[in-house]
Amino acid sequence: MSRLVVVSNRVADPRKVAAGGLAVALAETLNETGGLWFGWSGNIVEGGTPGEGELHTQQAGPATLATVDLSREDHDSYYQGYSNGVLWPVFHYRVDLADFDAGYIAGYRRVNQMFARKLLPLLKDSDTIWVHDYHLIPLAAELRAMGCRQKIGFFLHTPLPPPLLLATIPQQDWLMRALFAYDLVGFQSEVDLSHFARYVETEAGAQPLDRHRFRAFGSTLEARAFPIGIDVDEFAALTHAQEARDTYASTREEYKRRRLLMGVDRLDYSKGIPHRVRAFRELLAQYPENRHSATLIQIASPSRESVDAYADIRRELEHLCGSINGDYGDLDWMPVRYIHRTIARKRLPGLYRATQVGLVTPLRDGMNLVAKEFIVAQDPADPGVLVLSRFAGAAERLKEALLVNPYDTHGTAQVIQQALQMPREERQQRHQKLLQRVRDEDVHWWRRSFLQALAAAGG
Ligand code: UDP
Repeated sequence: MSRLVVVSNRVADPRKVAAGGLAVALAETLNETGGLWFGWSGNIVEGGTPGEGELHTQQAGPATLATVDLSREDHDSYYQGYSNGVLWPVFHYRVDLADFDAGYIAGYRRVNQMFARKLLPLLKDSDTIWVHDYHLIPLAAELRAMGCRQKIGFFLHTPLPPPLLLATIPQQDWLMRALFAYDLVGFQSEVDLSHFARYVETEAGAQPLDRHRFRAFGSTLEARAFPIGIDVDEFAALTHAQEARDTYASTREEYKRRRLLMGVDRLDYSKGIPHRVRAFRELLAQYPENRHSATLIQIASPSRESVDAYADIRRELEHLCGSINGDYGDLDWMPVRYIHRTIARKRLPGLYRATQVGLVTPLRDGMNLVAKEFIVAQDPADPGVLVLSRFAGAAERLKEALLVNPYDTHGTAQVIQQALQMPREERQQRHQKLLQRVRDEDVHWWRRSFLQALAAAGG
């Protein structure tokens, strides 16, 4: 097996698998192949020279971590500006929140060029390179321009919107052309893949060679959907560990007379948290039997707080939760418990298991791992019900969840009521099928599928 080189904006130590996410997904192959993980160090150098950054390398078991510092100017334009102020909102269909005029593109390009320049001397001829996410779309094109001939794959963790939404990005042509420097491009869902195929036809004037191969701008690439999963065994073990069991016991004790509904998200406008809270208010208004008996716990972990749109959503949510508690709350019952804090990953399975209805209702999401974690943490004998937005990538495969349109407040409230009333047998049947799907398509399956397709791509 050739050495795996992973490139992503942030780098995690693959020995600390408790970190979750990509670190869990990639640790095995990085360790097996003595791999390299390259990205930003997380350091911001005030007054540093744009396009320059010190390289740090360290061993993490058999794997090597190589990270580069960013100057303040590069951080603000590449990361905060173009990645999170332009690409994130447009890729989540929020063109209204994108800041197209700020001129961040130069910084985005400069940092991708610097990453390519720093990475190139670390590469071996037989390496396989896997680049992750929207921060680094042009990385392969920059590497190719410097003579890199290795196989390079790209995985987009966010959704890819339809062509006319992509077309709102002033540099869309350059960005999409840059994708063709990869041998394989992976998306989260078939819907994202279909948007890519339509983009190639309508905007790049190219014909697909077949369902998965596209030729444009003088290059051929393969594109497929690889829905990302979680490490089911790891999360099941966390569920049965002491910390989660303690959390389960204390939560059940505190809410013993109540039914719990739960949302766990980064505080991001794509997650539809205010829409969800409004649906809960509608539930209390339409179905008064839930007053005094149902409590919504919403965990919203702080995220990107220096971006205006994130400060706005926080204010909106605080106001909304306050007004519901004021209107409906009583001396012995607070309808919404809003927690603006990150809850340790080890405790989350205990909370999920204590919950009757898991609310995963993003307006748009690449996949949504909380949905999959919620399923794994349930007691199969008495499982909670997952209410899932049809606009989450996860909905494409998790059809036995109760799917909702989160923009439809009344409809979502009705489905929550259905979830609260679902008989145990139906809950068990749905849960069994969901768990099987989450197991079959876990994170190891995802990694293997992508790397096998990359090995076979381009002949
Ligand atoms: N998470 C956490 N503590 C929190 C909130 C979230 O550990 O307080 C974790 C959660 O368990 C999940 C991840 O953060 O693994 C969120 O992933 P998801 O795909 O749902 O959303 P993202 O934040 O990547 O958009």
